[in-house]
Amino acid sequence: MTAIPSLARGRSCEGCTVCCKLPEAASVKKPAQTWCTHCTIGDGCRIYDQRPDECRSFYCGWVLDAGLDDAWRPERSRMLVKFEPGRIIIHVDKDRKGAWRREPFLTQIRSWAQAALLHRGEVIIWDGPDRLRIAPNGEAVKAAEPQRR
Ligand code: SF4
Ligand code: SF4
Repeated sequence: MTAIPSLARGRSCEGCTVCCKLPEAASVKKPAQTWCTHCTIGDGCRIYDQRPDECRSFYCGWVLDAGLDDAWRPERSRMLVKFEPGRIIIHVDKDRKGAWRREPFLTQIRSWAQAALLHRGEVIIWDGPDRLRIAPNGEAVKAAEPQRR
């Protein structure tokens, strides 16, 4: 059984289904940047009780970390942040390509990239279909890799 992490105070997934579009969900053959066929957009998963483990265990950075302010709310920003050991991954909706370059996002992303440099980590942005590695000055370098959760 998948453990449910503690969510940040006052945050929940209610009304949000952004993670059912942006990252890949291989178990249900859902490519990245495509709505899952089981999703009722803005409402939830129609196979909630039978959803695969990769969905069951997925919580984005915004819902887990109160340090990410409300500008990052996924259904508003159309971006999804995922904190992993040694790296931060940001998925940007292909219909809002480039949204990460606006403020307050760019300043936050630069700051993450600067911190990552000190810890040999990295900040990766999936800007629609493009995989970008972000330098501490905010510059982006393209690289290829499959887009996963
Ligand atoms: S994107 Fe985040 S807040 Fe939205 S449903 Fe997924 S985990 Fe919840
Ligand atoms: S199976 Fe359910 S939770 Fe998983 S991506 Fe599809 S709609 Fe979302």
